[in-house]
Amino acid sequence: PNSQYELLRRRISTNTKEFWYFVHSGLLDLQKKTNGMSSDVVNTINHLMTLGGEHERSLLHDIHQIEEVDGYAAWRERESKNLSDLVQMRFEHLQNPPDCTTARKLVCSLNKGCGYGCQLHHVVYCFMVAYGTKRTLILKSKGWRYHKPGWEDIFQPLSKNCLDPTGESTSNWPGNAQTQVVNLPIIDSLTPRPPFLPLTIPEDLAPRLIRLHGDPIVWWVGQILKYLLKPQKKTAATIQEAVNNLGFKHPIVGVHIRRTDKVGTEAALHRVDEYMTWVDDYYNQLELKQKVDKRRIYLASDEPKVIKETQSKYPHYEILGDPSISKTAALSSRYSDSSLIGIILDIHMLSMSDYLVCTFSSQVCRVAYEIMQTYYPDAYDRFKSLDDIYYYGGQNPHNVIAALPHKPLKNGEMTISEGDIIGVAGNHWNGFSKGHNLRTNQIALYPSFKVKNKIETAKFPTYSEITQ
Ligand code: GDP
Repeated sequence: PNSQYELLRRRISTNTKEFWYFVHSGLLDLQKKTNGMSSDVVNTINHLMTLGGEHERSLLHDIHQIEEVDGYAAWRERESKNLSDLVQMRFEHLQNPPDCTTARKLVCSLNKGCGYGCQLHHVVYCFMVAYGTKRTLILKSKGWRYHKPGWEDIFQPLSKNCLDPTGESTSNWPGNAQTQVVNLPIIDSLTPRPPFLPLTIPEDLAPRLIRLHGDPIVWWVGQILKYLLKPQKKTAATIQEAVNNLGFKHPIVGVHIRRTDKVGTEAALHRVDEYMTWVDDYYNQLELKQKVDKRRIYLASDEPKVIKETQSKYPHYEILGDPSISKTAALSSRYSDSSLIGIILDIHMLSMSDYLVCTFSSQVCRVAYEIMQTYYPDAYDRFKSLDDIYYYGGQNPHNVIAALPHKPLKNGEMTISEGDIIGVAGNHWNGFSKGHNLRTNQIALYPSFKVKNKIETAKFPTYSEITQ
């Protein structure tokens, strides 16, 4: 297929959702104003919400059918595998230099003072810089807050022959071409910033990735996680045992409910019902395609009460999830050996689910979403985030390009000319997103359907010495 066809297909799907966010939230506003109005008005609004929702699901179903009948499904599978094989081979090559004593190295310390998801993202960032500078990544992990003996006890080492962080010459970032060993700080204090940081993808892969995937940076992060997270035998056995014991089966929706320290500081509280509305929506749509015997979710949370609450409120659901895992996720026992296997299992189950309902403000769910990309040619739309759009901590500004002009119809709306570049702050999930128009400097709301993503690329090394 040509790229335009694939982009258009995805755009229609995304904007069908945006259309319904817009109409649905307008109807909700009206509903709040119906106090004392005739039951006629109330009934009409209810009718619009119910049938409108059904109409949207039918449209989305048909759009997804196109993917299955247009004759490109086998191509998508093949292209996805070829691209993954290509970058995995490059990673192997980078990480296994012919001679470790002379190899150029980038040293990254796992111990960023944050949670497991945040630490994984830290290592992925280190890997991006290693790949961009063609330096073998050396991960220092002794004394890891989640497992004192270190990373290699849980996951396979990043190299078969090069784990030694020493060399002839060592310097802090950025060093120079002659420096053998460069120590990389955390992304938050990185200066100068190299061109390899998210949301930037390698230029040589960009045309293929833009055609294949709805959000290429997520694919790129997913591939790095695929390389990093190869479990040791013992870890793999523990995961397999947990999958078997749970009776993990498809269809299944992964739900992540982040509470405790996150709520009120970095994110707002979302009630269980809010998550479950989206789970229901997913299943209502799935039922247009197949019979669903049992609605099933995998529920992960750092708040043990949430699993009980969901079980009692949604008895018609099969709810998989382990309350003893969420107990270890509570603040008092977090960052310890006892919590590590729990978070590994939760992220694994979430990523294996068919769809995710969560808050992207949490790195736990973003990691699950990134890993999920490695199981499908393109799983960019297999999620519903109740708050943020996808982002990467420490990323460069996320820009979009206006595909359509806009004249404000209400206060607070942005003036847009076609081609304007807008820095996105967030999607309000009501048809509008907030952003900063770089041409006019205006910070305002714009209709989400009027823009398209701007994919940032940079010249990374192309590893042309590797031949397939
Ligand atoms: P964020 O704070 O949600 O962005 O994600 P981080 O991964 O950086 O830190 C949160 C930490 O809390 C995780 O790494 C876990 O240790 C714990 N945690 C949060 N949610 C869950 C969950 O659903 N399951 C488990 N097992 N642990 C969780």
